[in-house]
Amino acid sequence: MQGFRLASIFGFEIRVDLSWLLIFFLILWTLTADLFPFNYPGLNNSTYIVMGTAGTLLFFTSLLLHEISHSLVAKAKDIPVEGITLFAFGGVSRTRMDAETPGDEFQIAVVGPLTSLALSGLFALVSYFGQSNGWNIAVTGVASYLAWINLVLAIFNLLPGFPLDGGRLFRSTVWKFTNNLKTATRVASIGGRILGFGLIALGFWQLFSPVPNLIGGLWLILIGWFLNNAAATSYRELVLRTMLEGSRVKEVMTLQPETVPADLNLEELMDNYFFNRYYQSFPVIESDRAIGMITLNQVKGVARQKWTQHTVKEMMIPIEENIAIEPQKDMTTALTQMQEARSRRLLVMDNGNLAGIISATDIANWLRRQQEFGDTLPKKVFKRPQRQEASQIPSSQT
Ligand SMILES: [Zn+2]
Repeated sequence: MQGFRLASIFGFEIRVDLSWLLIFFLILWTLTADLFPFNYPGLNNSTYIVMGTAGTLLFFTSLLLHEISHSLVAKAKDIPVEGITLFAFGGVSRTRMDAETPGDEFQIAVVGPLTSLALSGLFALVSYFGQSNGWNIAVTGVASYLAWINLVLAIFNLLPGFPLDGGRLFRSTVWKFTNNLKTATRVASIGGRILGFGLIALGFWQLFSPVPNLIGGLWLILIGWFLNNAAATSYRELVLRTMLEGSRVKEVMTLQPETVPADLNLEELMDNYFFNRYYQSFPVIESDRAIGMITLNQVKGVARQKWTQHTVKEMMIPIEENIAIEPQKDMTTALTQMQEARSRRLLVMDNGNLAGIISATDIANWLRRQQEFGDTLPKKVFKRPQRQEASQIPSSQT
């Protein structure tokens, strides 16, 4: 997910997706131009702007506190949390793994809506206290809005569709009773898909009802579509992870990949390698050692007439950038590392020697073969690679 870094709180990196900026201004505009003038008529324009800005900032602070509460509980359960990303439909805590027990998942999920409920209560108190003590209507108005929006957030997040918090509570309950995470995820993600379709239908109904609500309707359709997709994706991802669990990089990788020398220029690279072969990437070799990986994307960034001026070594992703993995590593580790790597491909390195390469295509092919042949497949034979030096090549075959 692209975006920019906003701050760091409790050691969690807060990132903001670009889609979020759009929503930020949409909400700012709705509050300033519509909601506050409608509910509190007769104030001057600058007051509405101040109310709108305060309301929007505090709304996003509330969202952030909701996510931080998830992250804090996850961290307390020893689940590594990288940070929080705010995007169009709220926020996500980026964790390196899921909860290991249904109890942990329940606690991590439930704390978010509880935080939103607590915030709702707090702002309701401020609003009530302010009103009875004659505070400025701008302050009590913003507080009432925040009490209401946090309540909506809590209720929406409690809907039983995975991957919403309610869906996670639902999943952890099914998980507890069936003792099967895969079944639980399937049931909960069906919940998510039904809920997604329901929201889409509701959105269309709003669009075409006798009193059409254009923004509200489109909004519901978007959220429904997003939820439906997220539910389907998270189930597929889990199935993939379960299948890959316990298998090792060496069983899945492509052995002895073709390599390119580091001192080639980009034109030679394109003519002799990429235009002639269907690979998307090549390991880069310098004095018999793999030092990085070059992919088509790196070449695309360079204007064609400058291809002769750049070498593969200048443009490649250096091996230091977390693109190397050992053959005996677990495939779930490889998958996480691939998702993070700039190339989504990894060099398989065994004691400093290039043993193979692993890409999404390798995983897809491997999965297809597993599904077709299952356990009857012989394990891939993996021999430790030898440096191609004369002294180590057997002199005679007997
Ligand atoms: Zn949540």
